[in-house]
Amino acid sequence: MTNTICQRILLKLSGEALMSDAGGSIDADILKRLATEIIELCGMGIQVGLVIGGGNILRGAQKAAEGLDRVTGDQMGMLATVINALAMQDALEKLGQPVRVMSALKINQVCEDYIRRRAVRHLEKGRVVVFAAGTGNPFFTTDSAASLRAIEINAELMIKATKVKGVYSADPEKAKDAIFYPRLTYDEALDQRLNVMDTTALVLCRDNNVPMRVMNIFEQGAIKRLMLGEEIGSLIER
Ligand code: UDP
Repeated sequence: MTNTICQRILLKLSGEALMSDAGGSIDADILKRLATEIIELCGMGIQVGLVIGGGNILRGAQKAAEGLDRVTGDQMGMLATVINALAMQDALEKLGQPVRVMSALKINQVCEDYIRRRAVRHLEKGRVVVFAAGTGNPFFTTDSAASLRAIEINAELMIKATKVKGVYSADPEKAKDAIFYPRLTYDEALDQRLNVMDTTALVLCRDNNVPMRVMNIFEQGAIKRLMLGEEIGSLIER
């Protein structure tokens, strides 16, 4: 086993992370690349829990703005995360990695129900666990689901994957003078309304003392280097 900074992580990917530039909702090559990175972590002895959003397919709030009932829209959004989870399960399995999808909504002909103790057992056995269907409740996001699962499984670190290097004072793709924060506290992120995660997710991690690393995981090998001790992205702590 390699010497790593932690043994159990919760990785949060947005649904958009699976999208191709051409706009396809789930890109096979991207999925394979992400799966390869995750498998590398497992090879280092790290237990990996994964939450994938559903924004590449559907977001409840957007549907509500178009006139759909919000709860129905959110239920559709949660089902979208199951679709992404199944796609990731397939990609991991094809590369030989044992993996289980566990859903917060009961769809047990498709995947396992989420049961915390069983999830932890899977992780201990070296299986990747993909937590699907968010929290199972409307009006939440998969960011909050990721924080919740990170706390439940006692993850030592939550990693929020972004397209940029980490946390900035403003959107670095729009504001040239945006300041990069290598380290900050949850209160700073909350007070300055930095666009990291939604408030519920940040508060959950703060109150339960789960550190969060915000980083660009599309940079090949970045999570592996982080696990080996390199300072990558931004660290948010209490
Ligand atoms: N969702 C929900 N409850 C949850 C998690 C997600 O209702 O606990 C719904 C919500 O409609 C959300 C959609 O699922 O918009 C997809 O999740 P999210 O927007 O968090 O995906 P991401 O932006 O990470 O791709």
